[in-house]
Amino acid sequence: MSVDQPVPHHEFVILGAGVAGIYQLYRLLQLDADVLVLEAHADLGGTWYQNRYPGCRFDSESYTYGYSFSEELLQEWDWTEHFSPQPETLRYLNHVVDKFDLRKHMQFDSRVATATFDEATDGWHLQLEDGRELTCHVLITAIGLISAPTMPSFEGMDSFRGPSFHTYDWPHEPLDLTGKKVAVIGTGATGVQLIGAIAADVAELHVFQRRPNWCAPLHNRSISPEEMAELKASYDAIFEACAQTPGGFLHGPDRRKFAEVPPAERRAFWEELYASPGFAIWLGNFREVLMDEEANAEFSEFVADKIRRRVDDPEVAERLIPKDHGFGVQRVPMETGYYEAFNLPHVHLVDLMETPIERITPSGVRTTERDYDVDVIVYATGFDAVTGAFDRIDFIGPGGRHLRDKWHLGPSTYLGVQTAGFPNLVMVAGPQGASVSTNYPRAIEFAVDWNTGLLEHAARRGFRRIEVTPEAEAEWVEHVKELYGMLLLRNAKSWFTGYNSNVEGHDIKRWLIYNGGAPRYRKRLGEIAADGYRGFVFH
Ligand code: NAP
Repeated sequence: MSVDQPVPHHEFVILGAGVAGIYQLYRLLQLDADVLVLEAHADLGGTWYQNRYPGCRFDSESYTYGYSFSEELLQEWDWTEHFSPQPETLRYLNHVVDKFDLRKHMQFDSRVATATFDEATDGWHLQLEDGRELTCHVLITAIGLISAPTMPSFEGMDSFRGPSFHTYDWPHEPLDLTGKKVAVIGTGATGVQLIGAIAADVAELHVFQRRPNWCAPLHNRSISPEEMAELKASYDAIFEACAQTPGGFLHGPDRRKFAEVPPAERRAFWEELYASPGFAIWLGNFREVLMDEEANAEFSEFVADKIRRRVDDPEVAERLIPKDHGFGVQRVPMETGYYEAFNLPHVHLVDLMETPIERITPSGVRTTERDYDVDVIVYATGFDAVTGAFDRIDFIGPGGRHLRDKWHLGPSTYLGVQTAGFPNLVMVAGPQGASVSTNYPRAIEFAVDWNTGLLEHAARRGFRRIEVTPEAEAEWVEHVKELYGMLLLRNAKSWFTGYNSNVEGHDIKRWLIYNGGAPRYRKRLGEIAADGYRGFVFH
C-alpha cells in the first residue's frame, strides 16, 4: 500500500461468509456498526458454496437448520426435502443475504494470510494473500470447522492423467461421471454420501477404504406443500424442542436406563430408530450407548447385523463393519443406499488395511496387490478439522506470539470465544465451544448473540481491549477434557479427538469439542455474562 493510499479500516472485520459469518454480519449491522466480511472463496456460503460433490446434503432436519431470527424469513422459505441438498442450502443462504441486503458488506476472493495485533492501536492489521492490507479494531473469525481439506501424500499423485481432486474442490462446472471408471478414496460422511449418489451411474467404482465407519440410513424424503405449511406453523415448537436437546437437534437421548429395559424391548426400540430419519439412531438412543462399553457393543452388533443383511457378499459385509471402534464414537455417516451400492456388479471395495495404496500412477491407483485403472480419482480424505482453518492464517498476537505455535499441541480457549494472549480476536464456533458439536445454526445463533453482547458490553463502557485471562482459559480446558472423559468418543481416532493421519502432529489426542451439550453450555455462558463477563479482562 503506498503512502497516499491509506489502509482501509473497519471497526469489525469478520472472516468468512458462511452460516456463522452471515448472521454475525446481520447482528452487527443491526447495531449500526462499521463491519466488513472477508471471504476467501469467490462467493458466499462457506461449506455450502464449496462442497459440490454429488449427494452432498446436511443431516439436520432442514427446518432445524434455517436461521430462526426472522419470522418473515421462516414463513417465506420453503424447504423441499427433509434433509436439504447442497444446491438448495446455498440458494437459501443467498436468499438470506439478498433479503437483508448483506452482500454489499462482503468482499470475496479475500484470503487473509497474516493477522497481526498492533499494540499502539489495539487493533488488527490484516495482510491478504493478494497483497492488500486492512486494519480493524475487532477481528471475528467465522472460518468454519470443516473448511481446511487435507490430501493424502501418496507418491505420484501429480502424475495421474485424468481429473483428480478433493471432494471440497469438486469442480463447479458440470462433471458427468456417467460411464466413467471412478476411484473414491475415503469412507467418512463425505465419501459415504458420494458413493451412494454415484454408484448406479458410473461404469465402474472402486471404493478404497482404510477404516470403515458405522453408517445408518438417512431416510430422506421430499416435503409436500401441505407438510411445509404445517412446519411453518410449528416453528416455535421446533426451535423450542431443539433448545432442549444436548445436540440442538430434534433428537434427544432416551432417558430410560439401558440395563432396565428388557432385551426384547431394546431391540424393538432399535428397530424403530433404524427406520427413523436423521440422527435419531445416534442422538435419540440410550445414553449408555455412547458412554458404556457394554451397551455400545450390544448396539454395534445390532447395526452390524443390519449391514450383513443389506450386503449380499458376506466377505464384503464383514469388511464394511468397523472392528476398531463401536457405533457412534466417530461421526456417524448418514447414508442413502450406501450398503446396497456394494451389491452392484461394477462396485468394488478395496480394503486398504489388507492391501495399502503404494502410489498413484498415470492411469490410476496401485495397491500392494495390483493396479486399478480409472478415469477419475476423488479424494474424500477429510479435513484438518476445527483448528486447520486457524492454522492456515498466521495470527500474531502481542509480543510476536503466533497462534499456531500456541496451539501446536492442541487448541486452548475460554468458552470457544477467545484465546488468551490474543486481544480483540473473537471466535464464532471456536475450538472447545458448543457450536463444534451441535446442530450448527442453532448453536451459531446463540454464539453470535452472546459474542455481540460481549462486544456491546465493552463498547458501552469505552473499553478498547477485550481479552481472557490464562487462568479462566486453563479452567475451561480442564472442563472440556473432563467432559471427553465421560464419553466413549474419547478413544476415537477421528476429528472429534483431533486425529488426522495426513497432518503432521495430528496423530495425538487434541481437545477440539465441548461435549457438555448445548443447554449446559448456554447456561454457563449466561451466568458468565450476568457476572460481568467473568474471565474476561477489559481495558
Ligand atoms: P472424515 O470423516 O475425516 O473421513 C475421511 C476418510 O478418508 C476416512 O475414511 C479416512 O480413513 C480416509 N482417509 C484419510 N486419509 C487417508 C489416506 N491417506 N489413505 C486412505 N484413506 C484415508 O472426512 P469427511 O468424510 O470429509 O467428513 C468430515 C466431517 O465433515 C464429517 O465428520 C462431518 O462432520 C462433516 N460432513 C457432514 C456432512 C453432513 O452434514 N451430512 C457430510 C459430509 C461431511 P481413516 O478413518 O482410516 O482415517
